[in-house]
Amino acid sequence: MKSEQANTNRLTVKSVLDKRLPNGLQLLDAEVWLNSLSEVGYAELRTVTTQQENDAPKIVCAECEWPVYSPDIGGKCRFFQHRKGFPKTCCYSGEGKDPGAIKSAVFSIGTGSA
Ligand SMILES: [Zn+2]
Repeated sequence: MKSEQANTNRLTVKSVLDKRLPNGLQLLDAEVWLNSLSEVGYAELRTVTTQQENDAPKIVCAECEWPVYSPDIGGKCRFFQHRKGFPKTCCYSGEGKDPGAIKSAVFSIGTGSA
């Protein structure tokens, strides 16, 4: 069952490091963390990830340590994606698609064009 969703899941960064925390406490499960946040807490986190530049990242991918962000797509769907320029070798890279391509790829799933 899980293998069917593998392609889509790869677009989402599942584990992140919160560089604001002490060493040893930084590794967080993205889904658990995001879903534990209140609306206010989530908005604050989105602000942090939106503002961070590549030279001073605070929330990064646990695999490649590239900065991540959480796109606001509405509803309760919360997830992290790499910011632009991420390493294509990362296992969460989604085969190097940019956010625009990811979006169209997601929407094309239901059309049977893939
Ligand atoms: Zn990564």
